[in-house]
Amino acid sequence: MRLKFVPRRRISVLSSLAVIATFTTASILLQASSAAALIVSSRTLRPTFHGTSHSKNTMRLFSENNDKLKDTTSTEASDANDDFEPKTWNPLRLMVMKLGFTELRWTSPLNYEKREGVYNCAYCGIDLFDSDGKYDSGSGWPSFWRSTKDGNVQYKREWDGRLECLCGNQKCSAHLGHVFLDGPLPGSVPRSILSEAPRGDPRGAREDGYLPRFCVNGAALRFQEWESKKQE
Ligand code: FE
Repeated sequence: MRLKFVPRRRISVLSSLAVIATFTTASILLQASSAAALIVSSRTLRPTFHGTSHSKNTMRLFSENNDKLKDTTSTEASDANDDFEPKTWNPLRLMVMKLGFTELRWTSPLNYEKREGVYNCAYCGIDLFDSDGKYDSGSGWPSFWRSTKDGNVQYKREWDGRLECLCGNQKCSAHLGHVFLDGPLPGSVPRSILSEAPRGDPRGAREDGYLPRFCVNGAALRFQEWESKKQE
């Protein structure tokens, strides 16, 4: 039997095509199996977050950049009755309020705010401080010597002895800053405003001692000018 002569060049081309076809098929099969595995794992191995709404919101921070996107984590069912809706998804605000970061001093416009009005929590919206209690501490952060009312600010002693102040709304509990007992002296603030200061504000042992200094991140606050003052 006489073997048919096949040119070497044709053999080379045919073998190249065979190799390409093999790799293409293998690649398609690999991608298909990966997609199938991803679909199965997303249905069966979806992570469960057992923390508070904060952990869920922190996950949102790093997984979404649009606050209108629907949260699809498994906490959705357990939080079905939770109607709390954060008022910000600003990255700087969330870094400060939910992760406890401190903004750079002198960077907040609220440090220089002179108008009369209220300073609300940027995350939940409750009123925390107002212009009656604001003063220039020279620290580089918005400073207040009193909060607006009992319960709107809560406190927590940190490992290093500093007193952390947080939003008093239990659904929020956002980090605001710290309180130090080196604020203005009672005699330097209007007596009428001093008498209305919340009893729960931190105070030193001496009645005539320094008032508290709420050293607050401006990123944790949203200023709202009093309407009555605007019209004057
Ligand atoms: Fe809040």
